[in-house]
Amino acid sequence: MSFKVKSLSRWWEKIKAKFAVLHAQDFLGVDDYDKIAETVIKAHCNGILNACVLNDYIPKERISEALKAFKKRGLRMVIMVVSFMGTAAAKSLRITLPNYYVAEDIEGHKAEWPNPLTGEPAHMMWCPVRPERRSKLLEMCRSLAELGVDGIMLDYIRYGGSQFCYCEYCREKMAEEGIAVEGLTLRDTINPRNPIRRKITLWRSQNITSIVKEIISEVKRVNSDVAVGAYTVNHSYPESNLFALGQDFEEFSKILDFIMPGSYYSELWGSTWPGVVAEYMKSLSKKAKIWIGLASYRLRTAQMLKLNIYEAFSHGADGVIEFGGSPEGVKSHDRPHHWRALSEAYQFIEGIESLLSFERIKPFVAPYSIRTVKKRGIEEGLPYTDNYREVLQTFMGMGVPVAAGDPQEAYSGIILTGLEALTEEEALEISGTVEERGLGLLAFYQSGLYVLTEKGEVKERNVLNKVLGDGYGSPPSISPKLKALDPSHPILQSIKMLKMEELALRSLTLANIKSSTSKVLVTSETPIFTLITVNTPGKGRTVHFAWPLTEDKNYLKEPFRRLYRASMEWAAPKPYAYIKSEHSLDLTVRKKGKTIFMLVTNIMKGSTLYNPRPVRNVKIYLNVPYRDVESAETCREAEVKFEPSREGTDLSLSVIDDVEGIIVKLK
Ligand SMILES: [Zn+2]
Repeated sequence: MSFKVKSLSRWWEKIKAKFAVLHAQDFLGVDDYDKIAETVIKAHCNGILNACVLNDYIPKERISEALKAFKKRGLRMVIMVVSFMGTAAAKSLRITLPNYYVAEDIEGHKAEWPNPLTGEPAHMMWCPVRPERRSKLLEMCRSLAELGVDGIMLDYIRYGGSQFCYCEYCREKMAEEGIAVEGLTLRDTINPRNPIRRKITLWRSQNITSIVKEIISEVKRVNSDVAVGAYTVNHSYPESNLFALGQDFEEFSKILDFIMPGSYYSELWGSTWPGVVAEYMKSLSKKAKIWIGLASYRLRTAQMLKLNIYEAFSHGADGVIEFGGSPEGVKSHDRPHHWRALSEAYQFIEGIESLLSFERIKPFVAPYSIRTVKKRGIEEGLPYTDNYREVLQTFMGMGVPVAAGDPQEAYSGIILTGLEALTEEEALEISGTVEERGLGLLAFYQSGLYVLTEKGEVKERNVLNKVLGDGYGSPPSISPKLKALDPSHPILQSIKMLKMEELALRSLTLANIKSSTSKVLVTSETPIFTLITVNTPGKGRTVHFAWPLTEDKNYLKEPFRRLYRASMEWAAPKPYAYIKSEHSLDLTVRKKGKTIFMLVTNIMKGSTLYNPRPVRNVKIYLNVPYRDVESAETCREAEVKFEPSREGTDLSLSVIDDVEGIIVKLK
């Protein structure tokens, strides 16, 4: 007798995806798929994203042949399907351009972009509502599932921009839903505050979510082991994706098996950017695995690619898909150093995979709110996620381990960006964490000032007044001159050598905070505005800064860095772990039983040709008594020593080049 045992968890739930990409021109030119599969294995990849489906074209025979070579070696092959974008340039690959209806704005301008040399349309976005392209997509995905692919990733599963689509068909459909577009101007159609456009935002996202749903049920009907995922343009944040492109990440995450958030602009935003994306995407995802999309062809150095890969996995990504370095043996293998970097980074990740599966310890939590994205982010046009990124990157850059999550998950403290609208429940949870559990709270700008009601409305109400000890007045409009009221406070000691003017707060937006029970640390002279307050509610401590953390003013700059660092040390006097030496290193912590795993990644920022310098004599504080530490060892070449420090232990590392893992065994 034989039993057919069906595994409860699917392949994409069991692996950490370490994928490379085969572009259409590469895939269509390969003579020997066995050789490509071997090259991919040697680079420590466990799968390939095959970007070979453009327009209406599916190279069926080639896909079958490649699948044989890949499956034989246990490699996964996910096919990328370009959904609503047509490419005229694919002519060079003998792929014809089909004639679907091109989307149009309210003035009748078509969603097409010309080739600058010929003036002919090079690519266009088809109307995602009309049935012709939608049914073709279903048919294409069905036939891919029948071919036996491991997964399908929907690319361009979206609108071409906030101004589309107002074709006759879409207008009729909107009229059926009671959405009156008559009288709307082009300006109105790109204005998130316009009340009719708000209805259209929801309607548009429903059109996109519904085609994704249809594709999923069609594919799963053929074979439930085929993963279905989508590409989301994360370098433009969830706010603009939902408003401009019609992609609702939260809805996507409920139905898809994986989402690949593209996190491309890491030279602009620094190497920690994919880590930030992993944090907030994991935090909003209901079910979908998060596979971070990287594009090393946009990077000048291969080193940045490695750091990006470490950051993504370090911050909880379920996988990485890399679009830049192509495998040896294909046409576009013009960046062999990027392929080597990918291989080295994937090899390191492979080596620590079991350690990465330990439970994440979150010393500091900065809660991410998808509800704030949908209300304040889109309707009020606030740069909520952008600000969230800056807060996370600032603390990551100081070696303060910060993660997205629930306040209750925090071990040492909570950080609020000051733009979020909290629910009453969230505010209570934060207050309780501070007052009863004794955690620290670092609050910026208008923290706790906006509340999200049960009806889903944003109201002004000071829900953190008790813990912050602050009220709010009308926002000040005059540039303040600074004055320290208690220069001997430990927080101000950190910057005492500098003139207060060096805080350079003049051009910052300030919240007009007014102390009720808190102690004022810094004010302006004339007119008098409060800039920093501290409070000691219950067992906890809080610090409130009147300004939002913005990159141009204080991203990792002195004296802000010292100020935030000292505030963290004062508010959370026993942090679980942090980088104690003055290095720009990102630290994450995991634990299983009596083993603590810390991953330290070097940081790089800007479009520099220089790699980050290896850092020496790194000191990490761990809040575990020295007598409880059995041993400490590193994953790579650094020497590690440990010695008692306060109530905990200091770990000293000789050198960190790009990444290092530290395994601490407890007695
Ligand atoms: Zn349309």
